[in-house]
Amino acid sequence: MESGSLLIGGAWVDAHGANRENVTSPFDGSTVGTVAVAGVDDATRAIDAALAGFEKWKRTPAHERFAILTRAAALADDRAPEIARIIASENGKSLLEAQGEAGRSGDIIRLAAFEGSQLYGDSLPLDANRGTGFDKIGFTLRQPVGVVVAISPFNYPALLVLHKLAPALAAGNAVVLKPARATPLTALALAKCFQDAGLPDGVLNVITGPGGVIGDTLVRDRRVRKVSFTGSTAVGEHIASIAGIKKLSLELGASGPVIVLDDADIDAATTSIALGGYINAGQVCISAQRIIVHEKIAADFLDALTPKVKAIRVGDPFADDTKVGTLISRAEADRVTASIRAAVESGAKLVTGGEQEGTVIQPAIVANVDPYSPFAQDELFGPAVAISTARDVAHAIELANSTAYGLGAGVFTNNMSNSIRAIREIESGVVHINWTQLWRADLMPYGGFKSSGIGKEGPRSAIEEMTEVKTVIMHGTPWTTP
Ligand code: NAD
Repeated sequence: MESGSLLIGGAWVDAHGANRENVTSPFDGSTVGTVAVAGVDDATRAIDAALAGFEKWKRTPAHERFAILTRAAALADDRAPEIARIIASENGKSLLEAQGEAGRSGDIIRLAAFEGSQLYGDSLPLDANRGTGFDKIGFTLRQPVGVVVAISPFNYPALLVLHKLAPALAAGNAVVLKPARATPLTALALAKCFQDAGLPDGVLNVITGPGGVIGDTLVRDRRVRKVSFTGSTAVGEHIASIAGIKKLSLELGASGPVIVLDDADIDAATTSIALGGYINAGQVCISAQRIIVHEKIAADFLDALTPKVKAIRVGDPFADDTKVGTLISRAEADRVTASIRAAVESGAKLVTGGEQEGTVIQPAIVANVDPYSPFAQDELFGPAVAISTARDVAHAIELANSTAYGLGAGVFTNNMSNSIRAIREIESGVVHINWTQLWRADLMPYGGFKSSGIGKEGPRSAIEEMTEVKTVIMHGTPWTTP
């Protein structure tokens, strides 16, 4: 059983009042470990420690930061099997998926370490500005913002923590991390990699506990210069309303569209959708939730998709043949089942799946979905796809853009003009041609439009957003050449 404390100022400490809680398996309710439950005092203590850590870290040369981060990456590689076990235990995803996630940790840290060593500036052609001559030199200097608060969700407890920590630290910032309440043990195991790699005390602080209690303290504090949040749109909106004057990155919810046009390769499209709609039990912000199929091919498409979805083995995360594990909690599984039922009651057709046993839901296909109904418009975050039809490419794009969200989109077509039209007109932070949106290379810019958020992650983009640009002008005196 894992036992976690808070990491504050380089020490593993109890919460104020020594409060603790169990972390449980979503599959069978067994206790996976215990963690400290931080309160408001602990949040303030963590920010104090981060400020002290930043004073050291901002004066640490980039090559030393790079060396420490690459050591942390090697430790994350070594510990990947153990981290995968922790992810599957506390999150409920299959060990197979957890291994894939944990296996990316070292690479994310290395990519960020490299980008953190590339904080270039620009030289300014000041003499192009009338009234300014060669007696001045201007340039920009990229510097860390200071203390970054990182708040992460449950669904990818390693990946989404590292997409914040690694760039923040690589760029010279200090961090206070608040991982999801359901999945704190993964975050603590990753933090240990950084501590064991020689990160100075206070540069990384981790506090575990209820976001609703400690979140406001972390977000409001004026000494915090950046909040990097991944989670629901509702909490993101709350954070935006109280953060005050500081940098904000918000990676929020979605209801991701996939367009399948009448010239698409149906076999390729259905293979990709049978992954993209169900990986992580659909609990992915870039899940393929709404499938918008050209009406001419709708019947063939459904015939091809159904057996592929029926073949997905769900259940015990640690069983050898399990591809997809559980939802994060019974309440979430009940919510997804209720959404499927409501869609069917209002005229949609359940083609397969939807049976719920505890936190496990059989992968579902719901056809004849009204594209403007809540089942399509709202984020489902569960293992089901909603199928609607479109008359032509213009109608398909109109439906794709019809929700409040805009994170990822997929388009299946073999027509180049339709691809280009979709790329230009879909309102979405990422567009994939001939794959669903459930695909991510860790180095690419990643973030949503509209209610899916503001800002971009991916090491290079995140570092840009976790640094400030200082403009420097050196004033000399004019000289004359003899
Ligand atoms: P959530 O919003 O409930 O929680 C996310 C984090 O915010 C947790 O650490 C939680 O403790 C904390 N939190 C809760 N209340 C807070 C408050 N008042 N102030 C500060 N922090 C608070 O989200 P979740 O259920 O963990 O994750 C699912 C959501 O995350 C989905 O909507 C999903 O789409 C979204 N998500 C988005 C992306 C992306 O890249 N856009 C990636 C993964 C997940």
